[in-house]
Amino acid sequence: MAEECCCHGCCTGKTEEENTTNNRFSKNPEDTISVFHITGLDCADCAAKLEHKIASLDGVTKAVLNFGAAKLTVQHQLTEQSIIKAVAESGYQASGENAGSQPVKPDRRLVSVLLSGGLILAGMAAAYFAGMNAVGFYVLAIIIGGWQTAKSAYYSVKSLTFDMNFLMSIAVIGAGAIGEWHEGAVVVFLFSLGNLLQSYTLDKTRRSIQALVELTPRQALVRREEEEMLLYVDDVCVGDIMIVKPGERIALDGIVAKGLSSVNQAAVTGESLPVEKVEGDVVYAGTLNENGSLEISVTKLAAESTIALIREMVEEAQAQKAPAQQLVDKFARYYTPAVLLLAVGIALIPWLLLGQPFSEWFYMALVLLVISCPCALVLSTPVSIVSAIGSASRQGVLIKGGAYLEQIGAVKVAAFDKTGTLTQGTMTVTNILPKDGITEPELLSAAAALESLSEHPLAKAVVRQAEGLALKTVDSFTALPGRGVQGDIEGQTFLAGNRRLFTEADYDLSECEELLAELEGQGKTVMLLGSRLKIYGLIAAADTLRENSLAALKELRQTGIEKIVMLTGDNRKAAEAIGQKLELDTAYSELLPADKVAVVKDLAKAHGGIVMVGDGINDAPALASADIGVAMGAAGSDAALEAADIALMVNDLGKLGYVVKLSRKTLGVIKQNIVFSVLVKAVFILLTLAGVSNLWLAVFADTGAAVLVTLNGMRLAARDL
Ligand code: ADP
Ligand code: MG
Repeated sequence: MAEECCCHGCCTGKTEEENTTNNRFSKNPEDTISVFHITGLDCADCAAKLEHKIASLDGVTKAVLNFGAAKLTVQHQLTEQSIIKAVAESGYQASGENAGSQPVKPDRRLVSVLLSGGLILAGMAAAYFAGMNAVGFYVLAIIIGGWQTAKSAYYSVKSLTFDMNFLMSIAVIGAGAIGEWHEGAVVVFLFSLGNLLQSYTLDKTRRSIQALVELTPRQALVRREEEEMLLYVDDVCVGDIMIVKPGERIALDGIVAKGLSSVNQAAVTGESLPVEKVEGDVVYAGTLNENGSLEISVTKLAAESTIALIREMVEEAQAQKAPAQQLVDKFARYYTPAVLLLAVGIALIPWLLLGQPFSEWFYMALVLLVISCPCALVLSTPVSIVSAIGSASRQGVLIKGGAYLEQIGAVKVAAFDKTGTLTQGTMTVTNILPKDGITEPELLSAAAALESLSEHPLAKAVVRQAEGLALKTVDSFTALPGRGVQGDIEGQTFLAGNRRLFTEADYDLSECEELLAELEGQGKTVMLLGSRLKIYGLIAAADTLRENSLAALKELRQTGIEKIVMLTGDNRKAAEAIGQKLELDTAYSELLPADKVAVVKDLAKAHGGIVMVGDGINDAPALASADIGVAMGAAGSDAALEAADIALMVNDLGKLGYVVKLSRKTLGVIKQNIVFSVLVKAVFILLTLAGVSNLWLAVFADTGAAVLVTLNGMRLAARDL
């Protein structure tokens, strides 16, 4: 038997490469791309098999099945019906993704499981009370309860991938052949019941993310040329004005153009405290408009909304394999064929060589075949990861893969960016100090003219402060990372930035030194402004710490992070002031972006792994060079969402402790699952060899263990950790 055999089709004999799905679909104008929802998918390898089957259909260019999301994407030239039919032939149900939430059909599988159970009971009663021969009842129970399994077995034989359905069919036929009809019927019943339970629980875990997306309305009330119309979201364009009444969910991402309301953003941020929205504020699809009417200018197409992006990333993350899972797969690769060989040996050797009765040993071999399924083991990791990632996404934490989830629980060092991460990132100008001969408005307006072209928080503070002043035009503007900016005003080159910028340009700062030191000593960030000829003056600004920074870092220490450091491009004194307030181990200051990367790499080397937390926009290189990059406030920025390994939707450092705890808990659950499923197998192999096990007990243990492992994984979806 090929080493591909295993349970419920969860084959393990595949290489990592074959299992990695490539999600890119080429653009062939003749092809249609359809997305289906698959129900009844109970293990990662049935996914691989189904994917293979659909991909090999005539008229299908490409098929990708995401196990975590149970989502099948097909690029094809067929009808959707024919694909749904092909899926059904393999024993699963497909439904078009855009079909909406259809009425739940009574599951045919449930009916057949109940019927076969009823028939077994009836047969036992008939035999016990009336002394009848109940074989007829049992055969009927086998046919009704097992036709689905037999059908799948037929396809597995046809494609030469012998799976658990095949093994079960052999076991039941074998049982019948030696006259054990009752036992065969119980095996069929338990096996199909176990499968059913398992796909119910897995579907439930998957739905946790889909539920988020299903909150988003499919239609939006849009006003075009004074006329209001209800449009499908796919027909709404960027720039359309969408009207959202109180109590309605927002259908698309946009900016409030008119109105005032509070919006519950839990669907996107996990934070259910409503947020006030006024003109100019960003709102997200899927969030709930509570009390006011809003007119929203649409900024993104439906397919590109933040919630759609989150969903896509969560699904991709759930499809990835975590290291623990790869280990399990490797193990299962040797385990299954080994047990299979043993079964063949047990069936043949005592009979052929020792003259033992065939049927007894044949029966024992059948029991071993059933046990040979490592289903619970193979399921133990993915089910935990899928559940944990799904649960985190509902808390406003996007984890981009099981690997990061596993890693973050083991990291000992955390590095934080200062501006916008530990601090609020909205600076306010505190001092404007012009040099002799320059007026305050002259200094401020020149600085603001330059800074109006910069995105830095300091720049924004200056521009805000200069509101109402006329700003001159700036030519040849350049941003000098970690230093400041440069540009020409009326033919004269000006510099605005920190000490480093001016010393590098050979200015004499001796006159300003005292003042600089004093302001910096107060924890302020100081900006100098100067032309080629002279320094115009100083502008100081201050940032405030986030309220919960200290508490969040303390919590993080309690979870076992030993070293917490800050990285900033700001001056040493400002950095030290914050370092003291937040009880940091080290506050690295005056770093250029490249220095930040170097510090991150050094720390990682010294401590065997580092998590770097930043805003994901101007810290992208540092985030990328850390083992795990965490971006904060990612809901508003696709770039940050993309750059991070873990994204916190809102600016809440408190979520970090949650992620670390979730990671630890997930690893714990995975370990429990692995130990449990291996133990169950070991015990049953011993029992079988000792001759005290039987077929239906083996099936019971197998499917029972798989269901328990799934339920244990689902504990991670609980809200309170
Ligand atoms: P951080 O995000 O850690 O503050 P940055 O590299 O963004 O680090 O900035 C480092 C320093 O460079 C700032 O503290 C500031 O002194 C100076 N700087 C950067 N950009 C500007 C700017 N647009 N205007 C003035 N100074 C700037
Ligand atoms: Mg920064």
